[in-house]
Amino acid sequence: MSYIKLKEIEDWLDKPLSKKIEIAERIIQDALKQTTKQAVAFSGGKNSLVLLHLVLQFEPNIIVVFCNTGVEYPQNLKFVRRIAREWNLNFYELKPEKNFWQIVKKYGFPDHRRWYKKEPKCCWYLKNKPANDFYKSNNIDCVFTGISAFESRTRKLHIANKGPLYWTKRIGDTKFKRPILRAHPLAYWTDKDIWEYIEVKQLPINPIYDFADRNGCMTCTGFIGWEKQLSQVNPALYRRIMHMMGKRVLSDYGGIEFEDT
Ligand code: SF4
Repeated sequence: MSYIKLKEIEDWLDKPLSKKIEIAERIIQDALKQTTKQAVAFSGGKNSLVLLHLVLQFEPNIIVVFCNTGVEYPQNLKFVRRIAREWNLNFYELKPEKNFWQIVKKYGFPDHRRWYKKEPKCCWYLKNKPANDFYKSNNIDCVFTGISAFESRTRKLHIANKGPLYWTKRIGDTKFKRPILRAHPLAYWTDKDIWEYIEVKQLPINPIYDFADRNGCMTCTGFIGWEKQLSQVNPALYRRIMHMMGKRVLSDYGGIEFEDT
């Protein structure tokens, strides 16, 4: 990876949405041309919704894969299934072999993400492993994902290192017999671009964004501010997790309710 590549990514920051759509569509067409059986990874989040909308223009019957972690916000589950129905998707909802609580018991709760850390075990078991197993057993040779370089330092380094379209024989700990093409058409999109696209195209908005900045598992402790979000949305689950972590909450002290500070 070079400084130049990081600089190239930064140069995309303020480009207009029209340019970002143009490059995203080129990446999609290029990926479709090079492969025979493709899939879109769909989480219900805003990036994957935009990605799905873009890809469907070129491949309306593409396989759409959603990993139901078992600890989804109910709002997200409802939204994903609604999109699958209303957009008439070729939709697959995958379930993991182990549940979140079994994984936490063995490996602990997910820690705040850092660019130099490996992905949390729960992400592997609940999302990436079921998806990779599906790609393998269904001979998928191209996977579209909605990641962007501007989401985090980890993602920026990843895009700088690999680019928005690359062949690999390995995703995480999964080895593939034949190479699989990974396509990231939104590699250079910012959050602002995503919201602008949603507005311009009048796409439905996942109700999860009424109370959260990001889509993810309800039980996720892997981001800064999870305590505040969960204590407001599901105080009982918040207390359960805090107790499992050996931490006390304000309501443990004489019925004082947790307050935002
Ligand atoms: S979003 Fe959080 S809780 Fe869910 S799998 Fe990833 S790290 Fe684990």
